Amino acid sequence: MDILVSSRNRDKLREIKALIAPLPLKVHTPYDFEDLPEVEEDRDTLVGNALKKARVLSELTGLPTIADDTGLFIDALNGDPGVYSSRYAGDSCSYEDNRQKVLLEMSGKINRSARFITVAVFYLPGKDPLVSEGIVEGSITEEGRGDKGFGYDPIFQISGSAKTYAEMDDQEKNLVSHRGLALSNLVAKIEKFLQDKDNQ
Ligand code: IMP
Repeated sequence: MDILVSSRNRDKLREIKALIAPLPLKVHTPYDFEDLPEVEEDRDTLVGNALKKARVLSELTGLPTIADDTGLFIDALNGDPGVYSSRYAGDSCSYEDNRQKVLLEMSGKINRSARFITVAVFYLPGKDPLVSEGIVEGSITEEGRGDKGFGYDPIFQISGSAKTYAEMDDQEKNLVSHRGLALSNLVAKIEKFLQDKDNQ
């Protein structure tokens, strides 16, 4: 089966492609299509944004589509940056800008608990979408550590580990991460869906 993975973020694409590799799928990305528009993430929930991206791009390409949306929710900041994690430091800000803003907002805070949440969706025209969620608890470090990964990885230390995500390679991060949990759960649902004779 040919499918589309909706993201244009090459860091996310690298992780998602590794996570869905067990499935018998030919994976396409928005880079394989000319003039595919950027889908605005204007919903106020992760699931709303993931469903919107998957539905719009599936309708435009005619392909079953996987989309994910992720947020970092920090307790001491009332859940910010949350759904707005990509633009926390303003439009067209860098990963580094976002990290610096979090560290600034968190300076002096005792409670540093936070969680990453990913919602992943598999959208097939005419069928109920498959949806799964991955949540990982952790804390915001006092300063960045590690040079792997992307986004907020250097400032997020997962509970029960001494490492930030940026101190893990892709394989190690995918085994324990929010995206890893959401996608491996989604892979199991897609496998079941593909085995169902009604869907062949
Ligand atoms: P998106 O909307 O799913 O693309 O994610 C929003 C933002 O969250 C991204 O621009 C990154 O800054 C951040 N983000 C998403 N996934 C991760 C991750 O696995 N590690 C660190 N930051 C992430």
